[in-house]
Amino acid sequence: MAGPKLIKERVPTPEVPVEERVKSFVEVNLGYDFVSAVKEAERCLQCNPAPCIQGCPVHINIPGFIKALRENAESPEEAVKNALRIIWDDNTLPAITGRVCPQEEQCEAPCVMGKAGEPINIGKLERFVADYARKHGIEKELLKEFTSTENGVKGKVAVVGSGPAGLTCAGELAKMGYKVTIFEALHKPGGVLVYGIPEFRLPKEILDREIAKLKELGVEIKLDHIVGKTVTLEELLEEYDAVFIGTGAGTPKLLNIPGILLDRIYTSNEFLTRINLMKAYKFPEYDEPISIGKKTIVIGAGNTAMDAARSALRMGSEVTIAYRRGREDMTARIEEIKHAEEEGVKFEFFLNPVEFIGDENGKVKAVKFEKMRPLEERDAKGKRKIVGTGEYITLEADTVIIAIGLEPNKIISEEATGLKTNPDGTLVVDENLMTSIPGVFAGGDAIRGEATVILAMGDGKKAAKAIDEYIQKKRLPA
Ligand code: FAD
Ligand code: SF4
Ligand code: SF4
Repeated sequence: MAGPKLIKERVPTPEVPVEERVKSFVEVNLGYDFVSAVKEAERCLQCNPAPCIQGCPVHINIPGFIKALRENAESPEEAVKNALRIIWDDNTLPAITGRVCPQEEQCEAPCVMGKAGEPINIGKLERFVADYARKHGIEKELLKEFTSTENGVKGKVAVVGSGPAGLTCAGELAKMGYKVTIFEALHKPGGVLVYGIPEFRLPKEILDREIAKLKELGVEIKLDHIVGKTVTLEELLEEYDAVFIGTGAGTPKLLNIPGILLDRIYTSNEFLTRINLMKAYKFPEYDEPISIGKKTIVIGAGNTAMDAARSALRMGSEVTIAYRRGREDMTARIEEIKHAEEEGVKFEFFLNPVEFIGDENGKVKAVKFEKMRPLEERDAKGKRKIVGTGEYITLEADTVIIAIGLEPNKIISEEATGLKTNPDGTLVVDENLMTSIPGVFAGGDAIRGEATVILAMGDGKKAAKAIDEYIQKKRLPA
């Protein structure tokens, strides 16, 4: 007997038309409604074992949540509640991961449907469940099930940094019954989610809701507190039973080439922070201005480069992304590259910048590049090695954004002398994510270097469990 018919194509999600979105910061992808989400869920083969689970860094029961969604198609509220309960077992920020995970390299890469046609749109289904639950009050109801009634009685924990690692660690500990205080250097919580990733990819109201959820769990957030300056790690250890460091990798790598100090050359961090955190795109409604010319060159090819390029485009500039390697080695999410191309961002490959050229007023007016050539040999990350050709090209640009990578911030490790670091500045941790100082744990980009939101969240969750065990063991009579 023939089995059910395979539906090879994904159910599409609507997007804001290009002409409209390039003029604003509104979210580009509009996601599924209930009917289309169930239709997409029905494509899933319910594999057992399910390779998609192994592809997800936090091992969400993907067939489980998809089944819950389609099993109760008559009752959207029930379907979403059951699906969200399954997702929350492993991931408390699905509205965010559904939007920003590189699904094509993670859960969707090994999806069996991908061999016959298009993989199941797992990220968009996850996002749908979270969005629907938020809009219909389901999330609030479910939160009670996941929360301990012993709020604040198990001990006190300080969390440094409010990016996805810190937020997850704080949430998990609060749910277990700890009193948690987050110390954040900036004036808004969220880490890269608030200062790096633009509104058109991750609307800030979603992050605001996640922060509100944490506060409902009793987590206190102290903003404008730089640990290592405003308060030391030692002082935190005197007051709290344990500390989690989730300070990320927010220090931009720079290009050490002539002309780097010219005006209108930005690091991606400065550029994106001004636009996202300080809302420079709404100047003069907001105080922060930003100076962008008519022709912008973005150097780099990761998510940061894509976000900077698409933001500059929305500010009215023509934008070219220049990358020293080829298209296949770009590290940005495929959806972001597709959106950037649709919106008119141009790409130039195998160009390595060697000099910034300025005008008589000290402003950048062009970038000189050496043309590169790929070799057959690959480097440790599997990328094709490249060599200079000795040929040069100059491209006009009155704005340059450098997006070539980020390193961990060293404020805490330089102040707290007992905290061991690796040569690249990441913190040394053991298998339980404890640093070289007993009771101090760490996770996210602070231990991995530039990585992903879901890996940072996975670390936050793992560290919360280890912190609980550490504190409870300390409490046992000797
Ligand atoms: P962060 O998010 O960096 O948060 C660290 C927080 O600690 C910050 O708020 C910082 O202000 C605070 N802090 C630092 N030092 C101190 C101190 N001494 N005292 C107090 N607070 C301190 N990943 C994806 O998976 N998908 C994407 O699409 C994606 N896009 C990205 C786009 C951009 C522009 C960037 C920069 C990164 C992107 N990433 C993406 C990577 C991802 O955002 C990071 O891997 C993730 O945010 C790391 O989380 P974290 O909690 O470790 O650190
Ligand atoms: Fe996929 Fe990320 Fe969700 Fe895991 S958390 S299932 S990798 S979208
Ligand atoms: Fe469904 Fe794909 Fe996972 Fe199989 S691998 S259970 S088809 S999502």
